[in-house]
Amino acid sequence: MSIGRVVVLTGPSGVGKGTLLKAILAQHPEAFLSISATTRSPRSGEVDGQHYYFLSRADFQAKIAEREFLEWAEFAGNLYGTPRSPVIEQVNQGRTVILEIELEGARQVRQTLPTARQVMLLPPSIEELERRIRERATEDEVAIARRLDRAQAEISAAKEFDRCVINDQLDSAIAALEDAIFA
Ligand code: ADP
Ligand code: 5GP
Repeated sequence: MSIGRVVVLTGPSGVGKGTLLKAILAQHPEAFLSISATTRSPRSGEVDGQHYYFLSRADFQAKIAEREFLEWAEFAGNLYGTPRSPVIEQVNQGRTVILEIELEGARQVRQTLPTARQVMLLPPSIEELERRIRERATEDEVAIARRLDRAQAEISAAKEFDRCVINDQLDSAIAALEDAIFA
């Protein structure tokens, strides 16, 4: 059996990564979405071990010291990281493994796994991105400001990525992202 493909999906907070991946994974049960660890608090409806592994900062730092993360980064005041061993296991079983991670993590994976495909999801405009973050209503004003602050840097890094997809109309964006991941 051949080894699977690792796909990094990056894009500013609120662009629609989670929304699009949900639709795509429903059509691709063979793909594996990596579950990250984070020190941020769960949003309403988020389940530990399903959406994230929610860890204290001390526990997260212990895992950094034990080299358990394939990559990790601080984003908007919280730590986020990809547990290494599930990625290796799934890719060795031939599955497509998707890492939904921010820019610094994507850059680390570019160094450690240069064959990973790197995909950037972009908003139609900054105004629409802000509208979507606010519509989601999961963050307070301080957290929204920090996320918008990072958004410009992430969008400016689009040229570093193998494929870019604009999430304007939902249906065409799902099709374009599916193509970017699997084709
Ligand atoms: P991310 O995972 O990138 O932070 P989400 O998937 O949570 O973003 O999407 C942020 C908000 O934008 C959600 O309220 C979602 O319903 C909305 N959204 C996603 N894609 C679109 C789209 N193509 N058009 C309009 N709203 C969208
Ligand atoms: P959120 O708090 O909105 O779930 O995620 C905030 C940001 O952290 C998003 O850009 C998301 O892609 C990123 N992120 C989620 N998990 C990881 C991870 O394991 N590593 C890195 N580097 N970023 C992550």
